[in-house]
Amino acid sequence: MSHHLVCIEDEEDIQEIIAFNLERAGFEVSLADNGTDGMELVRTAMPDLVLLDVMLPGLNGMQVCKQLKADDKTAGIPVIMLSARSEETDIVKGLTDGADDYITKPFSQAELLARIQVALRRKPQSKALCVKQVCLDPELFTCKVANETIKLTTTEFKLLQAMMKQPGRAFSREQLMHAALGEQTEVVDRNVDVHIRAIRKALGDDHNIIQTVRGIGYRCCANDS
Ligand code: CA
Repeated sequence: MSHHLVCIEDEEDIQEIIAFNLERAGFEVSLADNGTDGMELVRTAMPDLVLLDVMLPGLNGMQVCKQLKADDKTAGIPVIMLSARSEETDIVKGLTDGADDYITKPFSQAELLARIQVALRRKPQSKALCVKQVCLDPELFTCKVANETIKLTTTEFKLLQAMMKQPGRAFSREQLMHAALGEQTEVVDRNVDVHIRAIRKALGDDHNIIQTVRGIGYRCCANDS
């Protein structure tokens, strides 16, 4: 199976030469010429790797990288930053923002290919969250109980993930929904209870990792108390 790459680069000739060479090397390449579209493309296409120019119209490369790495869904996708020599202070910042590698322009296509292969080979660290026998993998979007995969809806998955990220913390229903689905989510308390009930049911024997905190809401906890 060929790897799928997204290249976000606003200089047309660089974009063309990258696409030409990578396709010839057997990669599938999707292109975007600004940060905003590039971000959207990565989120929908979920590529194996992102080539990201630093200076871009719209969101710049730093901002795109930061957002990709802050989102559990896209955090595991390797990012190689492409930067002009004059932008070297940006490069350092790019790496601290979570870029996996960077290449300084001008670069040879052989170098680019080599860097891509290294980044693709590097095993992504697992960011699995585990409480008791419940293990949730935000990258694979799977939840297992005692090694058996269970079925959760996207909302249920995100609610459980939000609680498992901060074990012991008592969330109000509103805090929980906002942590899971974003601040703008409208919260109907009763619906939260319905989701929680469904999650507990799916968790089976480990349903008690989600505890009701009287007068507040819910928390995830490994202790039965
Ligand atoms: Ca540029």
